[in-house]
Amino acid sequence: MDVFSPKKRSEVMSRIRGKNTKPEMIVRHYLHAHGLRYRLHAKKLRGRPDVVLPRHRAVVFVHGCFWHQHSRCKYAARPSTNATFWQEKLSGNVERDARTVAELENEGWRVFTIWECALQESDLQALLQGILGQTANGKR
Ligand SMILES: [Zn+2]
Repeated sequence: MDVFSPKKRSEVMSRIRGKNTKPEMIVRHYLHAHGLRYRLHAKKLRGRPDVVLPRHRAVVFVHGCFWHQHSRCKYAARPSTNATFWQEKLSGNVERDARTVAELENEGWRVFTIWECALQESDLQALLQGILGQTANGKR
């Protein structure tokens, strides 16, 4: 059996799939509140990062734990029905994510990933410091 009921599963999926899912909004509001200016879903960039900070040469992906298979995360549990289908589908997502990160990094972007389950203040602080830290480039 799936860990979620069919109704819950489709709820979870549609929430994860949407463009303006809540976790993304939380990340954006946080960065904005700290004076960072960003662009959204830059279509020209590989993988369409959720947040793009051109000035900091940084991109942020806000990943759903299920679709992107957050490792050791309870929300990443694979459905046991249609196991082969999900195995291929989800492994494909993970491989695509890895290629996306490698390609963006090749183009000189710093890539940050935030997981939906890890949206504590401390994670957001770490993200902010990560984005700002390297921009300062030894100046502090
Ligand atoms: Zn997770």
